[in-house]
Amino acid sequence: MRTYKIAAIPGDGIGTEVVSAGIEVLNALAMRDGNFEFSFDHFDWGGELYKKTGRMMPEDGRDQIRDHDAILFGSAGHPEIPDHITLWGLRLNICQPFDQYANVRPTRILPGIKSPLRGVTEKELDWVIIRENSEGEYAGVGGRVHQGSPLEAATDVAMFTRPGVERIIRFGFKLAQSRPAKHLTVVTKSNAQRHAMVMWDEIAAEVAKEFPGVTWDKMLVDAMTVRMVMQPESLDTIVATNLHADILSDLAAALAGSLGIAPTANLNPERNFPSMFEPIHGSAFDITGKGVANPIGTFWTAVMMCEHLGENDAANRLMKAVERVTADERFHTPDLGGKARTADVTAAVIDAIQGEN
Ligand code: ATP
Ligand code: MG
Repeated sequence: MRTYKIAAIPGDGIGTEVVSAGIEVLNALAMRDGNFEFSFDHFDWGGELYKKTGRMMPEDGRDQIRDHDAILFGSAGHPEIPDHITLWGLRLNICQPFDQYANVRPTRILPGIKSPLRGVTEKELDWVIIRENSEGEYAGVGGRVHQGSPLEAATDVAMFTRPGVERIIRFGFKLAQSRPAKHLTVVTKSNAQRHAMVMWDEIAAEVAKEFPGVTWDKMLVDAMTVRMVMQPESLDTIVATNLHADILSDLAAALAGSLGIAPTANLNPERNFPSMFEPIHGSAFDITGKGVANPIGTFWTAVMMCEHLGENDAANRLMKAVERVTADERFHTPDLGGKARTADVTAAVIDAIQGEN
């Protein structure tokens, strides 16, 4: 029996609801498979801990999870704590030191789910967005002076390193190569940002030579938003900077039906550190505690976690179970226009897992 040690960090708001649903589903999946099991360790890190201790996670937090096979994360955010504190105190405090530099966000229209783009179907919208996750606009470089005076000034410096850009673009080409369309779109803003973004374009052209079987093109991020809406079928694998891909992937999630469905994986491809799996949505306090959070984004990230662990049969089984459930409108939560509750969707996915071959 293979045992995977998973660090579960539910965080705040609906993060706690969707992670507990995710754990139920993963345990059912392992049981159905019979060849492996999960051992979950729970870490109550987040806004409540911050209110008690002034920290989102303990000082030795990363040491507590360093040896786990993967991290299942919910969401960090708290209505009484500024967002930059919750984000830097927990999520970025794990992603950056654990060198999870490749943030992978598959976007598809699942069966039964309608895109707000009129007439667009599953065939025309099937993307993977890769977000640079370790530097760039979120490098944390910058400063603020003369606070409170009319001379106040502040900077956020977008710092890009050649190795950092090379590795994410290479990751993009590799991922594009593994997909049927074998096409990569490299997004920048190199007309206006004439230093780092021009370096991105140059590095993309260099790395492209290593992948003669992959076609690629360049887009400016503003034009990219238009293309995503007007010509979704022309896109396949997409790589962009930390900030650009953050925005593009929220747009992508909305075009695919709901923020509640979209998954993401924060990967350390070299496997020197554990990778982290999470839904892309935040803590959504407006619906917290009501039992209506859509758990599909967490189930889909659980599929990605199984793939990362090498449990491909289980990953396929879970994805099929998710698709069978989304195809049935009785299991649509309110964000999808339905009346189902988190628990209904979870039970339906577990039923489908038990029925899948
Ligand atoms: P954070 O500050 O942590 O980013 P947020 O309050 O901005 O959280 P998001 O999670 O980013 O909220 O989502 C925005 C809105 O989308 C929420 O207020 C919620 O109504 C809806 N939403 C997000 N995720 C889900 C979900 N899983 N199920 C249902 N609705 C969701
Ligand atoms: Mg938000």
